[in-house]
Amino acid sequence: MPFDIEKIRADFPILKRKVNGYPLVYLDNAATSQKPQIVIDSIVNYYSNYNANIHRGVHSLSQEATDAYEIARQKLQKHFNIKNAYEVIFTSGTTHGINLVASGFSEILKKGDEIIVSALEHHSNIVPWQMLCERTGAILKVIPMNDDGALIISAYEKLLSEKTKLVFVNHVSNALGTVNPIKEIIRLAHDVGAAVLIDGAQACSHIKPDLQALDVDFYVTSAHKMCGPTGIGMLFMKEEWGEKLPPYQGGGEMIKEVTFEKTTYAGLPHKFEAGTPNISGGIAFGTAIDYLNSINFREIEAYETKILEYATKKLLEIEGLKIYGTAPGKTSVVSFNIEDIHPYDIGTIVDKLGIAVRTGHHCAQPIMEYYKIPGTVRASFAFYNTKTEVDALVEAVKKAKLMLT
Ligand SMILES: *Cc1c(COP(=O)(O)O)cnc(C)c1O
Repeated sequence: MPFDIEKIRADFPILKRKVNGYPLVYLDNAATSQKPQIVIDSIVNYYSNYNANIHRGVHSLSQEATDAYEIARQKLQKHFNIKNAYEVIFTSGTTHGINLVASGFSEILKKGDEIIVSALEHHSNIVPWQMLCERTGAILKVIPMNDDGALIISAYEKLLSEKTKLVFVNHVSNALGTVNPIKEIIRLAHDVGAAVLIDGAQACSHIKPDLQALDVDFYVTSAHKMCGPTGIGMLFMKEEWGEKLPPYQGGGEMIKEVTFEKTTYAGLPHKFEAGTPNISGGIAFGTAIDYLNSINFREIEAYETKILEYATKKLLEIEGLKIYGTAPGKTSVVSFNIEDIHPYDIGTIVDKLGIAVRTGHHCAQPIMEYYKIPGTVRASFAFYNTKTEVDALVEAVKKAKLMLT
């Protein structure tokens, strides 16, 4: 399918609406993506035609729902090139996936063990690990970043030792757009016998990761940033870890046998999927993956790179505008400030003109601390954005600057 931007935009009903009297220019894709009609239809179809609980009933509706949910799991398996479908665990999202793994490691880590995070992380890939350190006495080390917003790999190598048990880094930074060299990060961790968790929440709408080639131990992501619904996500866990880690939550669906004396747990993936899951969400996640693949990730990457380069060039023409995050090969995020103007004020004015951007610390306060700024204005792009929308952003930012200086 050739990349036809008008046809693609027509797939997203929300892109037709106006905000404050102006056509919506949605540039907050790093917070959540918009949904194509086919994903919305998939949810409506489930509730209209085959709503039933899964994995339990012998009746036909339950069977249909179970099949659709398990087919979605297989779509994820294939998309991410995962060896076994049972290594795909449905979660409510990235945050849930990270907490599940952190909770499991509380029974593995001992006092004095070391775990490594990066300076570029989202709070959801920092806080659960700090809680883990408090529970276990493990020590948290941080891979530093440089002014471009890239991780300093030579410093990472120095942090690694036989004490290192786990490394967790995002694939792409949501605040700056930096693409981290995760293949190298994983290889270096494995050299000292440490496991690696990659937070792919920001990557998976731009990049199609091959999890077997990466040889990663855990990979987490959220459907809602890749054209799917909220409340559903994926935790990939290598089979050996699935066996080693204790269950996260107890309940229905995750057991083999329950008596009041002792309960034995179900195998993967059910061991980590207690309770009735987000069934329509899982099915629609599969639909979203099909949709993205129908456009083709190579095309998506090439198109988004053009939009990013154009936006970067146009925004830098505004005097006093500084972009944070300039690492080579970065993805579709432009984080910026203009002189001392507060990002919130710029965000408020451009919203009056129909333009949705994010302002603030983007759940990554340590990055803001590094640059000694309270936050940034962040425009984040998807494959359905256009150069015309970038022009609208640039004009709106110029107007905001005039009003605020
Ligand atoms: C969005 C995001 C998260 C959190 O995802 P949720 O869907 O809110 O759980 C974590 N890490 C990164 C890099 C993100 O962009």
